[in-house]
Amino acid sequence: MSTLEIKDLHVSIDTEQGVIPILKGVTLTINTGETHAIMGPNGSGKSTLASTIAGHPRYTVDSGSITLDGEDVLSMSVDERARAGLFLAMQYPVEVPGVTMTNFLRTAKTALDGEAPSLRHWTKDVKTAMSALRIDADFAQRNVNEGFSGGEKKRVEILQLELFRPRFAILDETDSGLDVDALKVVSEGVNREHSKGEMGTLLITHYTRILRYIKPDFVHVFVAGRIAEQGGPELADRLEEEGYDRFTAQTTVEA
Ligand code: ADP
Ligand code: MG
Ligand code: MG
Repeated sequence: MSTLEIKDLHVSIDTEQGVIPILKGVTLTINTGETHAIMGPNGSGKSTLASTIAGHPRYTVDSGSITLDGEDVLSMSVDERARAGLFLAMQYPVEVPGVTMTNFLRTAKTALDGEAPSLRHWTKDVKTAMSALRIDADFAQRNVNEGFSGGEKKRVEILQLELFRPRFAILDETDSGLDVDALKVVSEGVNREHSKGEMGTLLITHYTRILRYIKPDFVHVFVAGRIAEQGGPELADRLEEEGYDRFTAQTTVEA
């Protein structure tokens, strides 16, 4: 078992208006085999948490720690984090002009594992995963994310998840902009990988919809850069009925 541990994390961002603190003491422990949902209103810092774990240079860690099995993640480069088994599916996936999906996937897999995957298995694995995610075979020869629809980009993210087999997957609003069919296909992919029991998942979402397909073990409500409440799956049901008003009202009073 592996453990990703976030302790009292404070993160700020440098803007034209000055330095703005965004995360104000986030503590969270995720073990492989567990699915944690982070839910919260827009602007509460969910993507900031994801980007900080992934090592996005935009964000400054002021205090606190992130460790993976005791190893200091914050001192690792973005590449080192990926090799250590952290996977971030971005809210806004980027295009990579001039690089085909096939080349990208194989190059990334080789970099992650430190050796090239055996061609015979690899070709089969890619085909199997693509067909399970209902990604058309000719996508293999297309440039990464170039001209892909929102739904296609999300499927390709989950394709990477299934091929790279990370220890921890951070899925930031993987559900946004997906119709129900795409949501099901994408969720099935995450569940397939999860069922192998070797992955911890941090599922970040604004809406409860995806939690009908991916069942969280723990739900954390994120408000104004902090975890305001934690619970089991029943907390997501309550949020579906009550929304975030109760939490945001509280924050306003405190401020
Ligand atoms: P969420 O993902 O929960 O919607 P974010 O982490 O994207 O929240 O944003 C948290 C807060 O930080 C917001 O108030 C947002 O405006 C601010 N913020 C995040 N990234 C930037 C940025 N690059 N420049 C300026 N403000 C930012
Ligand atoms: Mg947002
Ligand atoms: Mg976000």
